[in-house]
Amino acid sequence: MDFSSLAVLSGLPAQDPYHAVGLPIYATAAYGFTDLEDGAYKFATNQGYTYTRIQNPTVAALEARLTALEGALGAVCLASGQAASFASLLALVRSGDEVVAGPGLFGGTVGLLNQVFGLMGIRVHFVEPEVAAVRAAMNEKTRAVFVEVLGNPSLKLPDLQGLARLCEEHQVALVVDNTFGAVGALARPLEHGAHVVVHSLTKWASGHGSILGGAVLSRETALWQHYPQFSSPDAQGKIPWEQFGPRCFLERVRQLGLSLGGMVLSPFNAYLLFQGLETLTLRLERASQTALILARWLQAQPQVAWVRYPGLPGDPAHPRAAQYLRGGFGSIVTFGIRGGMEGASRFLAHLNILQAPNVGDARTLAVHPWTTTHSRIPEEARRAAGVGPEMIRLSVGLESPQDLQQMLAAGLRAVEQVGHEG
Ligand SMILES: *Cc1c(COP(=O)(O)O)cnc(C)c1O
Repeated sequence: MDFSSLAVLSGLPAQDPYHAVGLPIYATAAYGFTDLEDGAYKFATNQGYTYTRIQNPTVAALEARLTALEGALGAVCLASGQAASFASLLALVRSGDEVVAGPGLFGGTVGLLNQVFGLMGIRVHFVEPEVAAVRAAMNEKTRAVFVEVLGNPSLKLPDLQGLARLCEEHQVALVVDNTFGAVGALARPLEHGAHVVVHSLTKWASGHGSILGGAVLSRETALWQHYPQFSSPDAQGKIPWEQFGPRCFLERVRQLGLSLGGMVLSPFNAYLLFQGLETLTLRLERASQTALILARWLQAQPQVAWVRYPGLPGDPAHPRAAQYLRGGFGSIVTFGIRGGMEGASRFLAHLNILQAPNVGDARTLAVHPWTTTHSRIPEEARRAAGVGPEMIRLSVGLESPQDLQQMLAAGLRAVEQVGHEG
């Protein structure tokens, strides 16, 4: 079935007693047992429902829909994208292990890797997400390579197939933050060999900037048998790889992230995300078209020093975007205002567009990454991540392109005045 059909048809529970067409919200913390044996069986096997920290039918429906959309083996939903990145790596590393990560990552991910994993004795190497650089940073302690499908906000696109081959050779998991891939509507890294994808569902899945959510998905793979946490006996004396096969990674994410870590997605948010996915194709198509119109228009404005959008034929990411993206080039445009920090400040002071640190909202949002999302990253690393003081990140929403041009023009006129005042 096509993505747009799966987006509305997949995941609905089959046995609803009322044949509900929409997804019911199961607002319950616990689930009853019929007798001692029933409870004992469910606890021993993790089959069926016991407690919502571990599993909930509304959340399970969302997991089933995400699995269909990404063409994955399965999914685990968590409270936020941050929780998803955290839990995915937690399942892969143990103290003393190492991770290789791209430098142009989302600011929260850089903080997570440096600070949280740093505390746990995990060393992280930040290198360009290119095969040669990643190969050079890998060693026998490397357990994961973590990249973004489209850098936020660098809009760099890694060579996913090349990285997947390298990781397969070294028996290391390739984890791709596919948030900017819009839950498979724009990119499906699992099809190109990534072992794991993580999502901030807060962005394009929600689509309305109203709630937070995250997910970890993985594909069919025999990779996990090379990890000691999957190939040696666990606390119950069972070998996860023998017990769960390729699902052992997702079981560990559920165990560490949800059952023990408690980073649980509320069933109410799961319901909203499930519904949000139903209009994802339409929203992304419209926003991608508008983003291309605005990117071309911005290129022609004298106050704009540069524009990055993977859909522009001259963009450095364009060749790989043509290979890896489908159904458009996404709704993120970044550009540099002439006059650096001063110009950017003038521009934002007069811009009639909402300024907020989010993407994938129905509304267009502008942000100055240098002083907000990436402000806690050391200056040199910020520049390496493709962020400069002149940069504006625009997440294009569903307003008309003409209205958005006018809103942007108001900001640009203020930049022009800097020049006129000398
Ligand atoms: C927003 C974002 C995250 C974090 O997600 P939250 O839902 O805000 O926790 C991670 N990665 C990328 C690329 C993001 O844009």
